[in-house]
Amino acid sequence: MSIFWSSTAAALTPYVPGEQPAEGSMIKLNTNENPYPPSPVVLEAIRRAVDGNLRLYPDPNASRLTAAIAARFALTPGEVFVGNGSDEILAFAFQAFFDRDQPVLFPDVTYSFYSVYANLFNLPFTTVPLDGQFRILPADYQRPNSGIILPNPNAPTAIGLPLRQIRELLEGNAGHVVIVDEAYIDFGGESAVPLIAEYPNLLVIHTLSKSRSLAGLRVGYALGQPELIEGLNRVKNSFNSYTLDRLALVGAEASFMDEAYTRSNITRIVQTRENTRSALERLGFSVTDSEANFLFVSHPAMPAPVIFRKLREQGILVRYFDKPRIDDYLRITVGTDTEMAALLKAMVEILPDTD
Ligand code: PMP
Repeated sequence: MSIFWSSTAAALTPYVPGEQPAEGSMIKLNTNENPYPPSPVVLEAIRRAVDGNLRLYPDPNASRLTAAIAARFALTPGEVFVGNGSDEILAFAFQAFFDRDQPVLFPDVTYSFYSVYANLFNLPFTTVPLDGQFRILPADYQRPNSGIILPNPNAPTAIGLPLRQIRELLEGNAGHVVIVDEAYIDFGGESAVPLIAEYPNLLVIHTLSKSRSLAGLRVGYALGQPELIEGLNRVKNSFNSYTLDRLALVGAEASFMDEAYTRSNITRIVQTRENTRSALERLGFSVTDSEANFLFVSHPAMPAPVIFRKLREQGILVRYFDKPRIDDYLRITVGTDTEMAALLKAMVEILPDTD
């Protein structure tokens, strides 16, 4: 505690990001990054921008990037908002759409940033329990609220919610914004984007950090009807008009010019995920049905923190959450086939002999 901190700062419980070890020192399967590099088209665009106009401010409206994203989803530019990673868009959305009179609802097991933002902005929240198989039950969200946020697929469980259930959530909460955080949607889930035309209360958030291999560039975007996008712009322009720098703008735009590259990486990752899932099950792990680029696993013969520590000793970093309900699980990012082979080899050495 510092005597210099405001009472607001003193009361914060910040989000703790996954460890980022020195480059190349570990097999890094802990923060759901893409194991493959970004498209060469992206790298070339950034290189060209470096030689360009960095002395000038970037376009505060991100017009070119916004137009590229709108075209990709057959929406209008007025239905697109871009931000410095989806984390930043989430922060704006909490301020733009949620109020203090009723709680924001989100699952009890979910992305940890939601409660951090609710606390930061002094918004009451209620966590809604998942069922015994870690599923979100839309009927449980029919209660007084000032809005709902959930990831689809959920994190860290990796489990997706069918579109008809998203529809149920939207219809039962027509007076409030329902945010569907689709950070991992490209790896298999059913996207809610086609519902935007029908539901003015739907905001969908995507990121370039996962399927597009651009976590280091920090770009995310939100899709929704213009009224919601305008709400996000009001908050952004009261904070910092230039949330995306010139390199991020051109790099992100170039990513949408090379969809074939992204698609082929997604196919590879999904294939590796399924192979790894079967191999882990053969080793006795229980693995949830993943529609994401990570696996959520637990083993009956060894506590998750022990596996976590032993993997770490072998230079393999996965994610462990010391939280109720999931403290016997590990979240493992799907890496390359070589990385997964190393993971499986280490698991065989770590786990007690069962025969
Ligand atoms: N939502 C979910 C569910 C996530 O897991 C993440 C990644 N940690 C994010 C949002 C944030 O992604 P980014 O800020 O890199 O776009």
